Amino acid sequence: MKNPVLFIVLAALIALSSISCEEEQNICNPPSGPHLINPPYPPAGPTDGYKFEQYTFTASGGLCSHGHSITLYRFDWGDSSFSDWGEASQAHEYDSTIVYQIRTVCQCSEGLISDWSAPIEFTIWHQDTLYASSDAYISDMNPGSNYGGSDTLIVGLMGGRFWTALNFPFNTFLPDIQIYDASLHLRAISSGAGTPFEVRVGMLTTEWEENLVNWNQYIDGWYFAYHTLWISGAAGWMELNCEMEISEMFNQGWDEGLLLFTSYDITTTHYQFFGSRESGNAPYLVLSWRPGEGLVSGGKEGGALKPVELK
Ligand SMILES: [Zn+2]
Repeated sequence: MKNPVLFIVLAALIALSSISCEEEQNICNPPSGPHLINPPYPPAGPTDGYKFEQYTFTASGGLCSHGHSITLYRFDWGDSSFSDWGEASQAHEYDSTIVYQIRTVCQCSEGLISDWSAPIEFTIWHQDTLYASSDAYISDMNPGSNYGGSDTLIVGLMGGRFWTALNFPFNTFLPDIQIYDASLHLRAISSGAGTPFEVRVGMLTTEWEENLVNWNQYIDGWYFAYHTLWISGAAGWMELNCEMEISEMFNQGWDEGLLLFTSYDITTTHYQFFGSRESGNAPYLVLSWRPGEGLVSGGKEGGALKPVELK
């Protein structure tokens, strides 16, 4: 070797180059083929929610053909708004009752942007609290004196049957709504007997108003798949799921109200007093709903009915 210095420099360059290629393989051995990126998976998150509350959705997936990492995601919220490019988990809130379609898109560290993912559906429900517009207990033992003489509502058997009828202003609702959840809230007064006590909720099928009750007349009630509340005997608010009954009432076009009753044998003494409007402990119904198929939001809050528009 005539020039040892040149040899050493060349050898060092080759060594450096080889180390560099192991560390930065993509530069020394660029992947063949075009630079492509697959879209992410449909975002993950809740399927149902309410207006004006924040819900978080999480994107994942996406694959760069050149092996670059996926660094940023963006969301199409389905309400004509988009998130900024950012983290895989982002939150959003909605202001209308409708089914939204949410999708996401990603980009790799070199800035290549994918197509949109497949969408997920996210339903926003109304939630309303309805107070009984009329209430009365109906007794087959004291006809004519069972309304106005007490500020409690009685259900059960106490030498005769006691039913309680509750009228809710269902007729203010759309003719075609879809029930998501319905729960009847009752305040037990601590003077029941025969606990644990079973109360069932049914649907009133006869037009009923407090002032139209014919005392000592049975009120037609019908239960779809009765729901039962076991009363422990303790006072306090309790909740009875009646989503199936309310759904069926709207399906049948019945808007008369609810009937509380017990199915115990007539020889067994079981009864329970509940708060009434007069006692300041009116039963109330928490109802979550949205317009049925073919309708969009705005019915109850005003606005013309329109075909569902999915974005
Ligand atoms: Zn890339």
